[in-house]
Amino acid sequence: MAQEAPGAGALLSILRDGQARTKAELVQLTGLARSTVSQRLDALLSKRWVVPAQDAIASGGRPATAFSFNRAARVVLTADLGATHDRLAVTDLGTNVLAERTADVSIDRGPEATLGWLVEAFTELLTETGYGLADVCGVGVGLPGPVEHASGRPVNPPIMPGWDGFPVPEWLGARLGVPVLVDNDVNIMALGEHWAAHPETDHLIYVKIGTGIGCGIISDRRLHRGAQGAAGDIGHIRVPNGEHVSCRCGNTGCLEAIAGGAALAAALDGATGSRDVVTLVRGGNLQAIQLVRQAGREIGTVLASIVNFFNPATVVLGGAIAEAGEHVLAGVREVVYSRSLPLATQHLRIQAGELGDRAGVIGAAVMVVEHVLARVD
Ligand SMILES: [Zn+2]
Repeated sequence: MAQEAPGAGALLSILRDGQARTKAELVQLTGLARSTVSQRLDALLSKRWVVPAQDAIASGGRPATAFSFNRAARVVLTADLGATHDRLAVTDLGTNVLAERTADVSIDRGPEATLGWLVEAFTELLTETGYGLADVCGVGVGLPGPVEHASGRPVNPPIMPGWDGFPVPEWLGARLGVPVLVDNDVNIMALGEHWAAHPETDHLIYVKIGTGIGCGIISDRRLHRGAQGAAGDIGHIRVPNGEHVSCRCGNTGCLEAIAGGAALAAALDGATGSRDVVTLVRGGNLQAIQLVRQAGREIGTVLASIVNFFNPATVVLGGAIAEAGEHVLAGVREVVYSRSLPLATQHLRIQAGELGDRAGVIGAAVMVVEHVLARVD
C-alpha cells in the first residue's frame, strides 16, 4: 500500500525552527513533488500559517521567494499549576511569552473551582495581548501529579483531592472551544528545557527538585511517557540508609522523603517549604547549605543508576531547590561522575535549567504547538 504523502503539517514542522526556506529547499527536504509542495504552501499561505520571508534568497542568479513560519498566526494558552503556586502564559507559536501571570491558588480546592478560575484568568490574560479567543489554537496544562496523557485525566494524584479521573480536557475544551492537552508538570518542564536550551540533544533527563522530586525523559528528541504516563517518577525510588524515613506514598526510604524540599524544610528551623530552604541557602545558612548538598548526593545516587540505564547526553536540574545555587549541582555531580560507568559519563553534561520558573509554561506551549502543527492540512 502506498504511504500517504506527509501533509502541510510536515512543512510546518520543518519551518518551525524559524529558518526561511525556498520551495526548492522544501522539495528537497520533504522528498515531495514540486506540485505537491506548491499546493501545500498555498493552503498554508491562505491560512497565514506561513508568510513570504522578508529576504529573498538568490538561487542560480534569480531571486527565489523564501517562506517562513508565521509565529504570530495563532496563540497558545498555557498553565503550569502547582500545589499552591501557578504560572499562566499566552505564547505565540514560537513559544515566545506574550503575557504572563503568577498566582497562588491551591489546587486542593478541587477541579471545578481551580479550572473555573483558570478560564477567567486566561480570558483576562488574552485581552492583554490583543488576541481573541478565535486566535487560540490550543491550551496546554501541567498538573502536579500523574496524568494519563491520552485522556488528559489525573490518576490518583496524591496532593490533588477530587481530581482523580476528572476530565480536564473536556471541561476546559467545552468552555474555551479549542483542543486541550494535559500532562504532569515535570514532563512539560522537560519539553520546555529541551526545546529552549537543548534542541540538538537526542537524549536528556530533566529532574525537578521541588517539594517533591520527579523527572522527565526525552528519548530520541521525544518525551517518553511510558505505558501509563508514569515514566520518570523517581521520587519514590528507595535510597540506601533511608529505612527509617516514611514517605507520603506509604513506603519508607523514598528519595523524595529524604531529599525533597518538604523533607529539607522539616529539618530546618524557620522553614516551612522549598522556598524557605532556598532563602536560607542564599542567606548563607550553613546547615541549609549542607542539607541541600547532601540532598544533591542522595539524588545523585539514584541518577547514577539512571545514567547507566538510559545513557543521556545531558541531565538538567530544575525546580525550586535546584535553583538554590551550585550546592545541589555539586552534590549530584560528585556522585554521578564517581558511580556511573565511564562510557556513560564520558560526555555527560549535568547542568542547571535555563528557563527557571518558566520551563513549565514554555513546555506546555511546545506540547500544544507540536500537536496542532502535526494536524494542519
Ligand atoms: Zn514514596
